[in-house]
Amino acid sequence: MPAHPIIRLKPREGRRALAGAPWIFSNEIVMDARTKALAPGTLVNVLPERGEPLGTGYFNPKSLIAVRLLDSVPDAEIGDAFFASHFARALARRAAFFSEHFYRLVHAEGDGLPGLTIDRFDDLCVVQITTAGMEALSRPILAALNEVVAPKHVILRNDTPSRALEGLEPYVRAARGEMPARLAVAENGARYFADPSGGQKTGWYYDQRDNRAFIAKLAPGRTVLDCYCYTGGFAILGAKFGAPEVVGVDSSVPALALAQEAAASNGIAPRCKFVKAEVFEELERLAAAGETFDIVIADPPPFVKSRKDLEAGARAYRKLARLAASVTAANGYLLLASCSHNMPRERFEQECAIGLARAGRRGAMIREAGAGPDHPIHPMLPETAYLKTLLYAVD
Ligand code: SAH
Repeated sequence: MPAHPIIRLKPREGRRALAGAPWIFSNEIVMDARTKALAPGTLVNVLPERGEPLGTGYFNPKSLIAVRLLDSVPDAEIGDAFFASHFARALARRAAFFSEHFYRLVHAEGDGLPGLTIDRFDDLCVVQITTAGMEALSRPILAALNEVVAPKHVILRNDTPSRALEGLEPYVRAARGEMPARLAVAENGARYFADPSGGQKTGWYYDQRDNRAFIAKLAPGRTVLDCYCYTGGFAILGAKFGAPEVVGVDSSVPALALAQEAAASNGIAPRCKFVKAEVFEELERLAAAGETFDIVIADPPPFVKSRKDLEAGARAYRKLARLAASVTAANGYLLLASCSHNMPRERFEQECAIGLARAGRRGAMIREAGAGPDHPIHPMLPETAYLKTLLYAVD
């Protein structure tokens, strides 16, 4: 039986954790010399000032979120069996929705595993570890993944910038099998390509799957402009489901090359054009030229990276909504998305509404959505509902 060191909450602190959230902030705990000296990633038991223990978690004295809880019992053994049972539960939750093995298998806190993300591409898994606590548990994570999923290839994509805050080095390597330069993704009946080692995040954004499918329903007979198209998630599906003309815009040349390959592989290349450009500039150019599209999509990178960027980010979302609305055809559709954790949904909706009005357009929001069921939200952590996707029918 392990005996983890004890972390104590200050009097009357840790209200969120006591209510069921898995996070304990550094200002909520007694940070004495003994606590400060614990190595980043140490497994700990958390005790409130009085009452029952909060359970087992991992600690990092350097992190603002000092403890992330893993188990509601103290002295829990966090090993192969712990991860195997979490992976089996995550797998069962995906099996209800996906007949093919292309999905986010583990979504950090949403699957009870803070600091760990795993995207599955059939027989290849891309594992992303973002905290010192999870890094220290790499061995049982990989052992349990082999036991429960048995993928041929496992890639550790441990190069997210947030790792530096945890004192972790960036690295990318194959933990099992090889590291393919690109892999095929099957989604919504289309075939795409992703680069698991050099692409953004794990190489593919599964979070927009349902929103892409929704756009596909509108595609027959409608032209599409996909701003921030990356490897073609929305654009390819639009063309595949009957859009006569699709233009994808992105600043990344490697992403656009994969989108172009996907267009060829789906037999729709003649109806697709991929353009390397800065989106704001391209939208201004298109608007000045009087060009419009029946469906306009804008799914940008996060404009609000931290709380202090909120106002600047909000202005950028507003401007993007205005420019995107200005190239949306009469009786068209406009999809606006934000993946910023720090941008609350209500504020995003407000900025988009103002942007639309400033473009002199009226419309109605016909869909308000987020990520799909392979991105579960922790009910006590609204931050984990990071994706906001709004669809307007524009007059
Ligand atoms: N919609 C995509 C995901 C978009 S991710 C999908 O469904 O998969 C954000 C994309 O924005 C990235 O591909 C990145 O290369 C691109 N990007 C970031 N800043 C940009 C800019 N200023 N202009 C154009 N593209 C940009």
